[in-house]
Amino acid sequence: LRGVVALDGPSGTGKSTVSRKLASALGATYLDTGAMYRAVTLAVLRADVEPSDPAEVVRVVRAARLTVGTNPEHPTVFLEGTDVGREIRGPEVTSAVSAVSAVAEVREQLVAQQRELIDEALVAPGGIVVEGRDIGTVVVPDAGLKVYLTASAHARAQRRTAQDVSEGRAGDLDRTHADVRRRDALDSGRKVAPLRRAEDALELDTTDLGVVEVLEQLHKHVES
Ligand code: C5P
Repeated sequence: LRGVVALDGPSGTGKSTVSRKLASALGATYLDTGAMYRAVTLAVLRADVEPSDPAEVVRVVRAARLTVGTNPEHPTVFLEGTDVGREIRGPEVTSAVSAVSAVAEVREQLVAQQRELIDEALVAPGGIVVEGRDIGTVVVPDAGLKVYLTASAHARAQRRTAQDVSEGRAGDLDRTHADVRRRDALDSGRKVAPLRRAEDALELDTTDLGVVEVLEQLHKHVES
């Protein structure tokens, strides 16, 4: 599918930074699917529902009203009409999101909404950069370019900690390292749409690459 760049990989690979910058440079829109899983997780927590109770999780997520803005300079996520962009990055949501995103009905609902957003974006020139865990495997398997970013768990934990500090949250490298490993195991081990590289995705290990170098690589492939 021309006009769609699918960027997948675990957390801390630089996926969000690279996706937003790539979208800006291409004059494309940007869809952060992780933010959608995080926002419905916030709805679950606000409803006082256990993330490990799939029936209750589905009930809350079905009723949740999620609105997503796809401007790469200013991506937004609204839950029930309120901007939750900051709250969804907090430790409570981060701890619970893998359980919520492992529920098949939750994924069906969000994948349907993601495909609608992608279809809307493709009406305009410039296309869309979509980031997540299952974009190249499930959401848009025929994307024009598929990229899978990896990096060592240590490098990923360091990046996440630096990001926490720069966004005004407490930075704790050991805790973040443990969280990165836990989410890797849950996201790769779940039954529905487990995190994995699509066979035809370009794999880039960003352990020793800066953002500029990763972008250089991607631009080469977008143009080729
Ligand atoms: O990318 P981010 O770290 O914000 O994603 C949060 C969580 O959302 C992931 O750990 C994963 O459980 C889930 N997710 C997913 N599928 C996607 C995007 C995110 O399951 N396409």
